[in-house]
Amino acid sequence: MPIDPDFQAHRHPEESYGNLKVWRDNKGTLGIYGTSVTVDFDLCVGDGACIDVCPADVFEWHGEGAERKAMPERERDCTYCFGCEAVCPKFAIRVTIPLQVKR
Ligand code: SF4
Repeated sequence: MPIDPDFQAHRHPEESYGNLKVWRDNKGTLGIYGTSVTVDFDLCVGDGACIDVCPADVFEWHGEGAERKAMPERERDCTYCFGCEAVCPKFAIRVTIPLQVKR
């Protein structure tokens, strides 16, 4: 199952990680990190494809070993190329262009 494209309607941000929101559900999940560039930590397998493809260096590794995930630390630097969405083998990433960027 891919990241829920309507997660903002189905969840609410329960906390923050730095400047990122963390969207959790009521099932004790790891949560979805970010707002415009989002990674579902319950789906991410930490293969690093998004880190490799991103031209804007948005992602940073978070955690160690099998728990390692791609954190969208600098989502504000995103150029909306959608490369990370395309390469993620688990469809764990959702990129949404914020209203203030849309033309
Ligand atoms: S959409 Fe492109 S620029 Fe934005 S985080 Fe994904 S790979 Fe990086």
